[in-house]
Amino acid sequence: MSKPRFRSVLDEYVAYRPGKVARSSEGRSYKLSSNESPYGPLPSVREVIADAGGLVNRYPDNGCTALIEAIAARHDVPAAHVAVGCGSVGVAQMLLESIGEPGVEVVYAWRSFEAYPTLADLSGVTSVRVPLTDETHDLRAMGDAITDRTGLVFVCNPNNPTGTAVRRRELEEFFDRVPQDCLIVLDEAYHEYIRDPEVPDGLELYADRPNLVVLRTFSKAYGLAGLRIGFMVAQEAIAEQVRKTYLPFSVNSVAQAAAIASLGAEGELLDRVASTVKERERVYDTLRARGWRVPPSEANFVWLPLGDDTMAFSAACDAAGVSVRPFAGEGARVSIGSPEENDAFLAVAELYRTAKEG
Ligand SMILES: *Cc1c(COP(=O)(O)O)cnc(C)c1O
Repeated sequence: MSKPRFRSVLDEYVAYRPGKVARSSEGRSYKLSSNESPYGPLPSVREVIADAGGLVNRYPDNGCTALIEAIAARHDVPAAHVAVGCGSVGVAQMLLESIGEPGVEVVYAWRSFEAYPTLADLSGVTSVRVPLTDETHDLRAMGDAITDRTGLVFVCNPNNPTGTAVRRRELEEFFDRVPQDCLIVLDEAYHEYIRDPEVPDGLELYADRPNLVVLRTFSKAYGLAGLRIGFMVAQEAIAEQVRKTYLPFSVNSVAQAAAIASLGAEGELLDRVASTVKERERVYDTLRARGWRVPPSEANFVWLPLGDDTMAFSAACDAAGVSVRPFAGEGARVSIGSPEENDAFLAVAELYRTAKEG
């Protein structure tokens, strides 16, 4: 009997299974696996979300006009340079859809953001992965990997899951090497957490680059991961093409209202980011002082390159109710949460270490 003919690439994917929430024997649970903000929405934003909820019988503004205006005003760029999508993952998908054709290659570092391979596969392009060096983008090797078939290159800065960032000079040298008919997508999902002054702000670089796209999100520092909203900034010629691939109405009306309100409450949100950065430094310093190898992080997580110990470490964390994000055989990514959550993580990491050394 014949069966419906699905795309062969789908056979490589396992069906989604919801993960179990880790719980300690006392029933405690600390979620440090998805790089979310540990804080709920601000009271002012919560109110806007509640009000917007009363209008969901209406379709959202398909052009996201007010939101795009607000983003443009906040970042001092023309509205015509901004495109929005259903999370920055949605915008990344739009970008790939806008260049995706059989035979086109997409270059990115590996390991990097998990969404890149899937989105690349689904848009029909070929992935070219360039290994990290010292947990950091190897921009020289990435430049070498670009050919006349390359349609897009991702640079995740700082990189998820390793937290490392590349600096202005090497980044600009790399940009200079990329042919102008190839899009450069600088994924700055964690931009607000950067403290190294040598790591550039993509929005200061794109104006005289005809192929540079800066990708940002409201999911991390702005604490709106559940509402799904992200945006890109690039020259008008790019933004105009990418907007054509927008799934109609995919940025919902509650998300649009909440993002606008969050831009209005930015001072308060960035205070929270400052607390997270302080906690990041505390977690990093504590781990280093106890002998862990941890690359410096410019994001709201740290990376433990544990190799073959990764799954045992993750299981020990689970048993203590601390969910981390393991990548078998490579390492574990641990988000920075509230001080209490970070203490719980540091405690289990110390138990694991002393047991292993004991
Ligand atoms: C979390 C993250 C995003 C954000 O995705 P959204 O779809 O906006 O929630 C984008 N890029 C990277 C590298 C991330 O880690």
